[in-house]
Amino acid sequence: MALQVRAIGILQRDLAERTRAARTNRDAQFQARDYLASIVESSGDAIIAKTLDGTVTAWNSAAQRMLGYSADEIIGQPITKLFPSDLLGEEEEILARLRAGGRVVERETRRLHKDGHEVQVLLTVSPIRNAAGEIIGASKILRDIRERKAAEARFSTLQAELIHLSRWNTMGMMASSIAHELNQPLAAMTNYLGALRRVLSSQPQNQKLIGELVEKAAQQGQRAATIIQHVRELVAKGKSERRRDSFPGVIREALQIASVATRQSGIELRFETEKDLPLIALDRVQIQQVIINLVRNAAEAMAGKPVRKLHVGVRRDGDSLRADIADTGPGLPREVADHLFEAFVTTKESGMGLGLSICHQIVIAHGGRMWASPNEPNGTVFSFTLPIESGS
Ligand code: ADP
Repeated sequence: MALQVRAIGILQRDLAERTRAARTNRDAQFQARDYLASIVESSGDAIIAKTLDGTVTAWNSAAQRMLGYSADEIIGQPITKLFPSDLLGEEEEILARLRAGGRVVERETRRLHKDGHEVQVLLTVSPIRNAAGEIIGASKILRDIRERKAAEARFSTLQAELIHLSRWNTMGMMASSIAHELNQPLAAMTNYLGALRRVLSSQPQNQKLIGELVEKAAQQGQRAATIIQHVRELVAKGKSERRRDSFPGVIREALQIASVATRQSGIELRFETEKDLPLIALDRVQIQQVIINLVRNAAEAMAGKPVRKLHVGVRRDGDSLRADIADTGPGLPREVADHLFEAFVTTKESGMGLGLSICHQIVIAHGGRMWASPNEPNGTVFSFTLPIESGS
């Protein structure tokens, strides 16, 4: 009996002990749950939970601020209510990823506010598992990135403005260089029209020659118009126009245009090209500008020299096509060689020092390279490459 009484006493104590432990345990669980709930509730990010079939099961106050619905309104509703119609497929993709045990980390996307406007968010989705480790739902954290997006947009507008302004500035300074560019076709046009006048007074019956001269003058007029158009596009933030074209053909044409100047300066011009070169994507007018600039510089450098030879060669160089423009001038002055493609580097009285920097910019924009080296026994070789894209 005494034994029984003792056993009951032990049992009672044990029971009381267990009850106390269970209560403490439950209290601890409640505390932890409350603690977590208050973290979730006070979070600045929207925290949403949903089942695997896409029904909303939890919704904190940041979610209400961000997306307009109160917890009462949205819990039990399909989460697709929050999806803009063009993003409905995203939910399927996210669910598939979750079922496979994956997550979505910091994806930039959009969600729909209760009043219908779209909110830009950074989304993270993680699976929720039960005690057995099975995936029973998902938690979503949404960060409002409207502010960040607006700041990014302001920044890129400012940047575009800056580029636009600096272009305008450069354009102002390029005026002299452009005048020079225009001078070439205009001088050629004047020459052709002069020749035409002579032919008309001496052999008015020669229709073929007259036709040719009119055609050549018209071509030069067209070239001047293209240069002006190009300048306009540059100012208007326009893009350069690249088409697949024959590199040697473009250079040959540029040399014909420049030949007015080279002939007048008594320069012996030689042009050589490798055969069967592939067509490449280029802006015809820009590349012709590069050639005309280099030829003009070479002609000016050779002025007064007893030997005035200009050799222009085109060939394949690895994955690129390459042009070399070699003169027999004095070579590059040291102060220029050290700052070759910088703007405003010039040794000429009336020079702007922009020609080479523009040439360099054009070649770089085409994905090519440009450099200068000494010519043997004297002079300078300017070389540049343009890439042959795959599939040429
Ligand atoms: P600009 O012709 O207005 O001076 P560029 O950028 O075309 O501007 O050329 C810068 C300088 O580079 C020239 O002033 C000249 O001193 C030098 N230069 C360019 N091409 C040659 C060349 N072929 N031979 C020698 N010097 C050259």
